[in-house]
Amino acid sequence: MGVIRNGTLLVACLSNSAGFPDFSNGGTGDPISPPRMFMTTKNFRFKSLAFQSQSGRCYYCDLPMWQDHPEHFALQFGITLPQSKQFQCTAEHLLARQDGGPTSRSNIVAACLFCNQKRHQRKIALNPVKHKEHVKKRLFVQRWHPVLSAKLNAEVRKTMGG
Ligand SMILES: [Zn+2]
Repeated sequence: MGVIRNGTLLVACLSNSAGFPDFSNGGTGDPISPPRMFMTTKNFRFKSLAFQSQSGRCYYCDLPMWQDHPEHFALQFGITLPQSKQFQCTAEHLLARQDGGPTSRSNIVAACLFCNQKRHQRKIALNPVKHKEHVKKRLFVQRWHPVLSAKLNAEVRKTMGG
């Protein structure tokens, strides 16, 4: 870990987080299980490959994600550091591990932390196709990554020059 030099930026971001759920402690009141802290090397490698092949976009919500530098991501898209946590790239097992899904390249896609957690919060996780449909519907009515989805999409369009 390097030293974070731009301390003022982080302070500014953290103090600007009012009104948004803090996913580190389940600020929405939903029981959110902690992210998988101990990724295997295999997980990590397949996640990175998936991240690249998906052009850094989430498998479910299609919004951009970050792998290593949340502070850069927050700065780039004009969001706070706590908000950027939702967009951390995670390894998503299409067939869940508890259902015998292997940690293999074909079974792992890159998904943002939010979409990943939401899928597995259900008693029985929706299959990936159903979950994707669910996410798209919620996005359409701005009930998924609210505010941020519009902001990020606008930002992405700008950087793509379209
Ligand atoms: Zn997502």
